[in-house]
Amino acid sequence: MMITDAKTFGAALRRRRKELNYTRTFMAKVSGFIVSFFCVLILFSLEVSAMEKKDNTTYEDKIAAFVPGDIVDKEQVRGQEESYFMRYPIEEGDEVYERINGKSYRENDDIALEELRYLKLLHYNFEHEIQVGELIVNEDVADDVLAIFRELFDAEYEIQSMYLVDNYWTGDATETDTASIEENNSSAFNYREATGGGKLSNHALGRAIDINPQQNPYILYRDGEWHWAHENATPYIDRTSGDPHVICAGDICYNIFAKYDFDWGGEWENPVDYQHFAREN
Ligand SMILES: [Zn+2]
Repeated sequence: MMITDAKTFGAALRRRRKELNYTRTFMAKVSGFIVSFFCVLILFSLEVSAMEKKDNTTYEDKIAAFVPGDIVDKEQVRGQEESYFMRYPIEEGDEVYERINGKSYRENDDIALEELRYLKLLHYNFEHEIQVGELIVNEDVADDVLAIFRELFDAEYEIQSMYLVDNYWTGDATETDTASIEENNSSAFNYREATGGGKLSNHALGRAIDINPQQNPYILYRDGEWHWAHENATPYIDRTSGDPHVICAGDICYNIFAKYDFDWGGEWENPVDYQHFAREN
């Protein structure tokens, strides 16, 4: 009897131990699962809040991150056009300063760095894509220049390329202008003499802008005929071709610049500078 009881007791004890072990394993699994679940949840919410933070820093930063030459999606711009037209001061040591110092900008008595503004804006290129462009102009005209390019953009007016002339720097300001024109680049500020020499150009003061110079050349009448420096402009000497990039008095480009009191070099007698719009004050 005693032996049987002891056996039964031993078996019951083993069973109980087994049950306890099972329960312990089960509880360990459950708590492990719960801990992992909360870890995943915490990581997920951290990720989401990081994403939200990124999206909140956002639109302005995303726009500011665009660099000249970038192509921007039409849908992305729609309704947000204004934020793509920006002006910045230029300060010694900043990114723009490092690009222009000793090139288009050199220490001089005519124009100070503080008087210049760096503009980043949008334009349609010749493929009719929306492209990021850049210009440096005088602070006096900066807001109006932004407004002009905003209107040109709204009119979907095409400008092939708009980079600082420093992208074409040859070591000489006048030669650099030539190199920029060869690439049909539209530009404004360049501390240099006027084409033909002799006096300071309005470009040196950030008060002149050249638009699509290939289609709108600088021409000079001498010895009984007109002369121009860039062979790529030859098809555009005849101003009656109807090419949409040829600027004519009364067309959309002319009218927008005129609205902001910019004079057009296409109305000079000799030389005639079809690409050139300027405002002296
Ligand atoms: Zn010009």
